Amino acid sequence: MDLGEGLRKAIAKLSGATIIDAKTIREFNKELQRALISSDVELALVTSFTKEIENAALKDKLPAGISPKEYITNMVYEKLVQLMGEDYVPEIKPKRILLMGIYGSGKTTTAGKLAKYYQDRGLGAGVICCDVSRPAAYEQLETVAKQAGVGFFGMKGTSDVKEIVKKGIEEFRSKKVIICDSSGRSGMDGVMINELREINKAFVPDEKFLVINADIGQVAGRQAREFGVAVGIDGVIVTKMDGSGRGGGALSAVNESGAKVAFIGTGEKLADIELYDSKKFVGRLLGMPDIESLINKVNEAAKSVGVKEISDVNELNFDMFYQQLKAMSKMGPMKNVLGMMGLADVPKEMVEGGESKLKVYESIIGSMTKEERNDEKLVREQGRIRRIAKGSGRTEKEVRGLLSDFNRMKKLAGLMKNDRAFKKNFSKFSGMK
Ligand code: GDP
Ligand code: MG
Repeated sequence: MDLGEGLRKAIAKLSGATIIDAKTIREFNKELQRALISSDVELALVTSFTKEIENAALKDKLPAGISPKEYITNMVYEKLVQLMGEDYVPEIKPKRILLMGIYGSGKTTTAGKLAKYYQDRGLGAGVICCDVSRPAAYEQLETVAKQAGVGFFGMKGTSDVKEIVKKGIEEFRSKKVIICDSSGRSGMDGVMINELREINKAFVPDEKFLVINADIGQVAGRQAREFGVAVGIDGVIVTKMDGSGRGGGALSAVNESGAKVAFIGTGEKLADIELYDSKKFVGRLLGMPDIESLINKVNEAAKSVGVKEISDVNELNFDMFYQQLKAMSKMGPMKNVLGMMGLADVPKEMVEGGESKLKVYESIIGSMTKEERNDEKLVREQGRIRRIAKGSGRTEKEVRGLLSDFNRMKKLAGLMKNDRAFKKNFSKFSGMK
């Protein structure tokens, strides 16, 4: 079973579920674990992956307007993106690229596609044929290069890859991007490993890509390991995404090598190459081509309205506090997302209590004078606490509770301010500018 199929099966378990309870999550996680394990995903990763989902899913209430299936799919999506990478942005600069992979994975085709990709962006490109194991390899790459309008270099009648690379680099002195196509065989063997090592030494690639076919599934993990041990892998290229395969093997390859997916092959023609895009790729893996609209929907549910960013902690006043609290109570169920962004310790009491607490605070703040709303220190005076409590029909204890939450928020805002990465994510996530 391909990973995507397993994931979709797990998600299908949630169809019809109206609440997220321990039993639903356990059943879902069992499927999820099965899918990940059968795709050779490391056991430790499987455990942490499913544990995190369980914790997050059980901790919080479901946001209004979202089904358990949508909510958990979004969660799995977020986790997969964390693992697979968000997107790939190639540097448009002179470089040497080595393509590796087993026979038929799409290396030669990809060599032509990549050469054209860079040449179209102003970097003259050339391809070197280092596939010395297949007689027709030379002609195939030569044809591809001609179609792409890029340089071609190869040497017939020799299997000395070192020599080929050396001469190729000389030939392509004026080229900015040089791509080396290697032998593929049906599996790794000693000869192939030696050949790759020699190419690696002579070519000194800036980027080493493992090319895998979208329908290979779990064996991708083993391939990544073997090629990784031989010469190392900087990135993965998944070809034939236009076919029936969904690229599930990429997860195993990425997990095994630590390299991210870079390009996607979407057809036999030279123009059929795309940059890896997490929404498209992971969405497809999950069997949800419109994952973007789901993410938007979930984010929308958590989005805050009219919240102003606190640029100076000392500026925080009760009006802003109320707005923030309102936003946070909406985000409550999304705490897992906050956790992922590095803020695991949002005070629980602040996001709990929801609507009823908001009402209490609203009335208390409504009984404050303008000066009091802008100066929290004033409110600490016992006489004012008594007056505000009376005016709002609340207890003094509730007024003190508001004060302590206010100060907690102040502390939190201070923490947020000092963590740029968190702040960036938080702004993006909450819709605050
Ligand atoms: P190599 O043995 O790794 O060099 O693989 P090739 O580049 O020769 O490709 C093997 C076959 O897969 C060829 O028939 C290609 O046309 C085909 N191919 C390569 N990439 C893609 C792709 O992204 N989509 C489709 N549909 N076919 C592809
Ligand atoms: Mg080839």
